[in-house]
Amino acid sequence: MELRVSYNRYLMAKALTSSLLGMDQGELSAIISEAGEPAYRAKQIMDAVYRQRVETLEEVSTLPQQFRERLAQSGVTVGAARIEKKFVSVDGTVRYLIGFADGQSVETVWMPEGDGGEAGDGSEAGEEAESSGIGTSGAKAQFRETGLNAGLEGLPRPDQHHPDQEHPTQNRNRQNQGRPGGSTICISSQVGCAVDCQFCLTALLGVKRNLTAGEIVGQVCAVLKDQVVSPPEDRINLVFMGMGEPFLNYENFIKASRLLVEGVGIAERRMTVSTAGIVPRIHDFGREAIRPKLAISLNAPNDTLRTRLMPLNKKWNLEMLMTAAREFPLRTREWITFEYVLLGGVNDRAENAKEVAELLRGLRCKVNLIALNPGPGIDFTTPGAEQVGVFQQILRDAGIPAFVRRPRGRDIYAACGQLKRTVEVATSPELQIQSISPATGG
Ligand code: SF4
Repeated sequence: MELRVSYNRYLMAKALTSSLLGMDQGELSAIISEAGEPAYRAKQIMDAVYRQRVETLEEVSTLPQQFRERLAQSGVTVGAARIEKKFVSVDGTVRYLIGFADGQSVETVWMPEGDGGEAGDGSEAGEEAESSGIGTSGAKAQFRETGLNAGLEGLPRPDQHHPDQEHPTQNRNRQNQGRPGGSTICISSQVGCAVDCQFCLTALLGVKRNLTAGEIVGQVCAVLKDQVVSPPEDRINLVFMGMGEPFLNYENFIKASRLLVEGVGIAERRMTVSTAGIVPRIHDFGREAIRPKLAISLNAPNDTLRTRLMPLNKKWNLEMLMTAAREFPLRTREWITFEYVLLGGVNDRAENAKEVAELLRGLRCKVNLIALNPGPGIDFTTPGAEQVGVFQQILRDAGIPAFVRRPRGRDIYAACGQLKRTVEVATSPELQIQSISPATGG
């Protein structure tokens, strides 16, 4: 009993210096109990923060005024994320710059018609994958022209943002939600990224810090509120594919995933996390009771090429990565997504496709092909649509479902690998990948 009281005091003290956003039912219950309030207040706060997405304590109308004042006097805030800028693409994609209390910011992307590759994301590939229960059998879909080489000429530049502009998508969202797949939010897990993939603009930033669970969930809450949509009534998909490597911020990412399911109301099967290949965490992730689906950023079929494109391959090579993928405990109708960014003349040759097919043979998986999204400071070129089609066909002929992701928001640098804040951040040594310990079993 004494232990319990001390624990509550610890939690209360912790709460008094932090925000409600990011707390789970247990943490809120401890605060409520310590404050001598009835237990159901925890549920009321959960509802207000995650479902109604309030931004201030004043808005939590279910709590007595006196209790709200006591919380405020103790330093408790909601801790809502703040939208600092909005960039709206001609294709309806919106790139948000979202700021936090310490002045740091990340990017979060809203794709009104899905992200073009994940099951349930509203894309053709996603819907097909979901309805066919994709596996090791051959893909059904044929190659489709996806506008990979759509020119950027004449499109607005990224600095032509319109913070206060109401985009037509805001009025269309309810209609879009009537579509089978719904919309997708791409969220960030770190400020910057330490992984240093050579084709990624985010990598140029280095990493500043991890996001807290509240900051990860806060991005979703801010975007849902801005787009005037609400799960589960509206079909919303989440991809952890923004800035940062989620598995290098593992505890906060997992806690955020649980809060998104239990608090915000987004189903696990509508979330996908992408890792560059932090092998120990792939093993850990497979043991989680609540977890998104797994995507692995592959990008090369052999160690020589992968190490060149993704230096972390020196630490966790393809053999280690593929072992983790083969041992990953997939659920019913679940598969692993492998993402493959195609770089002209580098990893997009027919022999590369054959090597990929060999590497993935027998795995319950699909491949999402992404022609490089160009950006300043990236020295690779975007392959032509024909080359992409040849690559895709080789995979399909080998019985591997392969889809070409349509680039979203390229004109506003919102597409894959293009997220880079306007303010550069410094590298923080303690967040480097070298700090990850070997696999904890499995
Ligand atoms: S592709 Fe992902 S993991 Fe690689 S540097 Fe970019 S954000 Fe980091």
